[in-house]
Amino acid sequence: MKDEFATLSRRDIVRLSALAGGISVAAPGWAQFGGIGKVLDAGKDVVKAETISDAELKTYFDEVAAETDRQNPIAGPKDPYGKRLATLAKGLNSHDGLTLDIKAYLVKDVNAFAMGNGTIRVFAGLMDQFTDDEIRYVIGHEIGHVKAGHSKKRMQTALRASALQKGAGATGGTVGRLASSQLGDLFNKVVVAQHSQKNENEADDYAMNFMKTKGYEPVAAATALEKLAAMEGDKKNPLQFLSTHPSPGARAKRMRAQLV
Ligand SMILES: [Zn+2]
Repeated sequence: MKDEFATLSRRDIVRLSALAGGISVAAPGWAQFGGIGKVLDAGKDVVKAETISDAELKTYFDEVAAETDRQNPIAGPKDPYGKRLATLAKGLNSHDGLTLDIKAYLVKDVNAFAMGNGTIRVFAGLMDQFTDDEIRYVIGHEIGHVKAGHSKKRMQTALRASALQKGAGATGGTVGRLASSQLGDLFNKVVVAQHSQKNENEADDYAMNFMKTKGYEPVAAATALEKLAAMEGDKKNPLQFLSTHPSPGARAKRMRAQLV
Protein backbone atom coordinates (compact mmCIF):
# COMPACT_ATOMS: atom_id res chain seq x y z
CA MET A 1 0.00 0.00 0.00
CA LYS A 2 2.72 2.41 0.96
CA ASP A 3 4.79 1.50 -2.08
CA GLU A 4 1.83 1.96 -4.38
CA PHE A 5 1.37 5.28 -2.82
CA ALA A 6 4.92 6.36 -3.36
CA THR A 7 4.56 5.42 -7.02
CA LEU A 8 1.33 7.34 -7.33
CA SER A 9 2.94 10.26 -5.63
CA ARG A 10 5.92 10.34 -7.95
CA ARG A 11 3.91 9.70 -11.09
CA ASP A 12 1.02 12.01 -10.54
CA ILE A 13 2.42 14.94 -8.78
CA VAL A 14 3.98 17.69 -10.70
CA ARG A 15 7.01 18.69 -8.77
CA LEU A 16 7.69 22.28 -9.48
CA SER A 17 10.84 24.15 -8.83
CA ALA A 18 12.42 24.10 -5.41
CA LEU A 19 11.23 26.40 -2.73
CA ALA A 20 12.96 29.66 -2.39
CA GLY A 21 13.92 31.29 0.82
CA GLY A 22 15.62 29.53 3.68
CA ILE A 23 13.05 26.85 4.40
CA SER A 24 14.52 23.41 4.72
CA VAL A 25 12.07 21.15 2.97
CA ALA A 26 13.87 18.18 1.49
CA ALA A 27 12.42 16.64 -1.66
CA PRO A 28 8.74 17.40 -1.18
CA GLY A 29 6.49 14.72 -2.62
CA TRP A 30 3.64 17.10 -3.07
CA ALA A 31 3.25 19.86 -5.54
CA GLN A 32 4.44 23.17 -4.33
CA PHE A 33 4.91 26.29 -6.28
CA GLY A 34 7.92 27.93 -7.79
CA GLY A 35 8.30 31.45 -8.97
CA ILE A 36 8.73 33.07 -5.60
CA GLY A 37 10.05 36.57 -5.93
CA LYS A 38 9.85 36.59 -9.69
CA VAL A 39 6.45 38.12 -10.19
CA LEU A 40 5.92 40.05 -7.02
CA ASP A 41 8.41 42.73 -6.33
CA ALA A 42 8.55 43.28 -2.59
CA GLY A 43 8.65 46.88 -1.56
CA LYS A 44 7.63 48.26 -4.90
CA ASP A 45 3.95 48.76 -4.24
CA VAL A 46 3.64 48.98 -0.52
CA VAL A 47 0.13 49.47 0.76
CA LYS A 48 -1.30 49.31 4.23
CA ALA A 49 -2.52 45.86 5.23
CA GLU A 50 -5.53 47.50 6.84
CA THR A 51 -6.85 48.42 3.41
CA ILE A 52 -7.31 44.76 2.50
CA SER A 53 -10.82 43.67 3.43
CA ASP A 54 -11.63 40.25 4.84
CA ALA A 55 -13.65 39.55 1.70
CA GLU A 56 -10.61 40.28 -0.47
CA LEU A 57 -8.41 38.12 1.73
CA LYS A 58 -10.89 35.27 1.45
CA THR A 59 -10.83 35.56 -2.33
CA TYR A 60 -7.05 35.32 -2.36
CA PHE A 61 -7.19 32.29 -0.09
CA ASP A 62 -9.86 30.73 -2.31
CA GLU A 63 -7.70 31.17 -5.39
CA VAL A 64 -4.56 29.82 -3.75
CA ALA A 65 -6.50 26.84 -2.35
CA ALA A 66 -8.08 26.08 -5.75
CA GLU A 67 -4.68 26.12 -7.43
CA THR A 68 -3.12 23.89 -4.75
CA ASP A 69 -6.02 21.45 -5.15
CA ARG A 70 -5.51 21.40 -8.91
CA GLN A 71 -1.91 20.39 -8.41
CA ASN A 72 -2.35 17.65 -5.82
CA PRO A 73 -4.42 14.44 -5.90
CA ILE A 74 -7.42 14.82 -3.58
CA ALA A 75 -8.83 11.70 -1.93
CA GLY A 76 -12.38 11.30 -3.24
CA PRO A 77 -15.36 10.16 -1.16
CA LYS A 78 -14.78 6.51 -2.13
CA ASP A 79 -11.05 6.53 -1.46
CA PRO A 80 -10.10 4.87 1.87
CA TYR A 81 -8.28 8.01 3.04
CA GLY A 82 -11.20 10.19 1.97
CA LYS A 83 -13.66 7.92 3.78
CA ARG A 84 -11.61 7.80 6.94
CA LEU A 85 -11.11 11.55 7.06
CA ALA A 86 -14.81 12.24 6.38
CA THR A 87 -15.73 9.88 9.23
CA LEU A 88 -13.31 11.21 11.80
CA ALA A 89 -14.09 14.84 10.87
CA LYS A 90 -17.85 14.29 10.95
CA GLY A 91 -19.60 17.38 12.30
CA LEU A 92 -16.64 19.62 11.47
CA ASN A 93 -18.15 21.34 8.45
CA SER A 94 -17.88 24.43 10.56
CA HIS A 95 -16.26 25.23 13.86
CA ASP A 96 -15.99 28.38 15.93
CA GLY A 97 -17.57 30.54 13.24
CA LEU A 98 -15.33 29.19 10.52
CA THR A 99 -16.63 27.19 7.56
CA LEU A 100 -14.24 24.30 7.06
CA ASP A 101 -13.32 22.36 3.96
CA ILE A 102 -11.33 19.37 5.19
CA LYS A 103 -9.87 17.00 2.60
CA ALA A 104 -6.98 14.58 2.25
CA TYR A 105 -4.23 14.72 -0.34
CA LEU A 106 -3.03 11.34 -1.58
CA VAL A 107 0.54 12.29 -0.90
CA LYS A 108 2.87 10.28 1.29
CA ASP A 109 4.42 13.19 3.16
CA VAL A 110 3.66 13.73 6.84
CA ASN A 111 2.06 17.12 6.54
CA ALA A 112 -1.08 19.21 6.90
CA PHE A 113 -1.94 22.84 6.39
CA ALA A 114 -4.75 25.34 6.77
CA MET A 115 -5.64 28.52 4.95
CA GLY A 116 -7.52 31.55 6.18
CA ASN A 117 -10.64 30.63 4.22
CA GLY A 118 -11.11 27.41 6.21
CA THR A 119 -9.36 25.10 3.75
CA ILE A 120 -7.66 22.29 5.66
CA ARG A 121 -5.64 19.62 3.88
CA VAL A 122 -4.32 16.55 5.68
CA PHE A 123 -1.80 14.40 3.84
CA ALA A 124 -2.21 10.63 3.60
CA GLY A 125 1.34 10.17 4.91
CA LEU A 126 0.29 11.86 8.14
CA MET A 127 -2.90 9.78 8.29
CA ASP A 128 -0.80 6.60 8.04
CA GLN A 129 1.10 7.57 11.19
CA PHE A 130 -1.69 9.01 13.31
CA THR A 131 -4.78 7.69 15.06
CA ASP A 132 -8.13 9.34 14.39
CA ASP A 133 -7.87 11.47 17.52
CA GLU A 134 -4.31 12.47 16.66
CA ILE A 135 -5.54 13.63 13.25
CA ARG A 136 -8.29 15.55 15.03
CA TYR A 137 -5.59 17.26 17.10
CA VAL A 138 -3.84 18.25 13.84
CA ILE A 139 -7.13 19.62 12.49
CA GLY A 140 -7.68 21.53 15.74
CA HIS A 141 -4.14 22.88 15.58
CA GLU A 142 -4.64 24.07 12.00
CA ILE A 143 -7.97 25.69 12.91
CA GLY A 144 -6.05 27.35 15.75
CA HIS A 145 -3.63 28.96 13.30
CA VAL A 146 -6.57 30.32 11.32
CA LYS A 147 -8.60 31.50 14.32
CA ALA A 148 -5.58 33.20 15.91
CA GLY A 149 -5.15 35.15 12.67
CA HIS A 150 -1.71 33.72 11.83
CA SER A 151 -2.80 32.72 8.36
CA LYS A 152 -4.53 36.04 7.69
CA LYS A 153 -1.57 38.04 8.96
CA ARG A 154 0.76 36.20 6.61
CA MET A 155 -1.53 36.87 3.68
CA GLN A 156 -1.75 40.54 4.59
CA THR A 157 2.03 40.75 4.85
CA ALA A 158 2.49 38.96 1.52
CA LEU A 159 -0.02 41.22 -0.20
CA ARG A 160 1.39 44.34 1.38
CA ALA A 161 4.74 43.50 -0.14
CA SER A 162 3.25 42.89 -3.55
CA ALA A 163 1.63 44.69 -6.41
CA LEU A 164 -1.50 42.58 -6.08
CA GLN A 165 -3.32 44.71 -3.59
CA LYS A 166 -2.77 47.84 -5.62
CA GLY A 167 -4.57 46.20 -8.52
CA ALA A 168 -7.42 45.04 -6.31
CA GLY A 169 -7.86 48.51 -4.85
CA ALA A 170 -7.88 50.16 -8.24
CA THR A 171 -10.86 48.10 -9.33
CA GLY A 172 -12.94 48.92 -6.28
CA GLY A 173 -11.98 45.87 -4.27
CA THR A 174 -12.62 43.32 -6.96
CA VAL A 175 -9.91 40.74 -6.91
CA GLY A 176 -9.03 39.46 -10.33
CA ARG A 177 -7.81 36.02 -11.24
CA LEU A 178 -4.21 35.64 -10.30
CA ALA A 179 -1.58 33.96 -12.42
CA SER A 180 -0.33 30.59 -11.21
CA SER A 181 3.06 32.09 -10.38
CA GLN A 182 1.41 34.77 -8.25
CA LEU A 183 -0.64 32.13 -6.43
CA GLY A 184 2.56 30.19 -5.92
CA ASP A 185 4.22 33.17 -4.38
CA LEU A 186 1.32 33.65 -1.97
CA PHE A 187 1.28 29.93 -1.19
CA ASN A 188 4.95 29.95 -0.25
CA LYS A 189 4.54 32.98 1.96
CA VAL A 190 1.27 32.00 3.56
CA VAL A 191 1.43 28.20 3.89
CA VAL A 192 5.00 26.95 3.55
CA ALA A 193 6.78 29.44 5.80
CA GLN A 194 7.63 28.29 9.30
CA HIS A 195 5.44 29.33 12.19
CA SER A 196 7.07 30.89 15.24
CA GLN A 197 7.19 29.00 18.51
CA LYS A 198 4.71 31.49 19.96
CA ASN A 199 2.25 30.81 17.12
CA GLU A 200 2.74 27.06 17.56
CA ASN A 201 1.92 27.27 21.24
CA GLU A 202 -1.14 29.36 20.50
CA ALA A 203 -2.38 26.85 17.92
CA ASP A 204 -1.62 23.96 20.31
CA ASP A 205 -3.55 25.59 23.14
CA TYR A 206 -6.47 26.09 20.78
CA ALA A 207 -6.22 22.43 19.71
CA MET A 208 -6.22 21.20 23.31
CA ASN A 209 -9.38 23.16 24.01
CA PHE A 210 -10.84 21.87 20.73
CA MET A 211 -10.18 18.27 21.80
CA LYS A 212 -11.78 18.76 25.19
CA THR A 213 -14.86 20.64 24.00
CA LYS A 214 -15.52 18.29 21.07
CA GLY A 215 -15.21 15.24 23.31
CA TYR A 216 -12.14 13.86 21.54
CA GLU A 217 -9.34 12.23 23.50
CA PRO A 218 -7.12 15.15 24.67
CA VAL A 219 -4.06 12.95 25.24
CA ALA A 220 -3.91 12.54 21.44
CA ALA A 221 -2.50 16.07 21.23
CA ALA A 222 0.50 14.93 23.25
CA THR A 223 0.93 11.53 21.59
CA ALA A 224 0.77 13.09 18.10
CA LEU A 225 3.57 15.49 18.98
CA GLU A 226 5.56 12.71 20.65
CA LYS A 227 5.30 10.69 17.44
CA LEU A 228 6.53 13.66 15.45
CA ALA A 229 9.40 14.15 17.87
CA ALA A 230 10.34 10.48 17.46
CA MET A 231 10.19 10.81 13.68
CA GLU A 232 12.42 13.85 13.72
CA GLY A 233 15.68 12.96 12.09
CA ASP A 234 14.25 9.80 10.54
CA LYS A 235 15.27 10.03 6.90
CA LYS A 236 12.56 7.57 5.82
CA ASN A 237 9.79 9.93 6.83
CA PRO A 238 9.60 13.21 4.99
CA LEU A 239 8.40 15.50 7.69
CA GLN A 240 7.28 18.68 6.03
CA PHE A 241 4.95 19.25 8.95
CA LEU A 242 7.94 19.78 11.20
CA SER A 243 9.51 22.32 8.88
CA THR A 244 6.42 24.50 9.23
CA HIS A 245 5.39 23.48 12.76
CA PRO A 246 8.60 23.27 14.84
CA SER A 247 9.71 21.80 18.19
CA PRO A 248 7.34 18.86 18.68
CA GLY A 249 9.12 17.58 21.82
CA ALA A 250 8.70 20.77 23.81
CA ARG A 251 5.16 21.15 22.55
CA ALA A 252 4.27 17.59 23.61
CA LYS A 253 5.36 18.47 27.15
CA ARG A 254 3.15 21.57 27.11
CA MET A 255 0.21 19.46 25.96
CA ARG A 256 0.80 16.85 28.68
CA ALA A 257 0.83 19.63 31.29
CA GLN A 258 -2.62 20.70 30.12
CA LEU A 259 -4.11 17.22 30.52
CA VAL A 260 -4.48 17.46 34.28
ZN1 LIG B 1 1.43 24.87 13.56
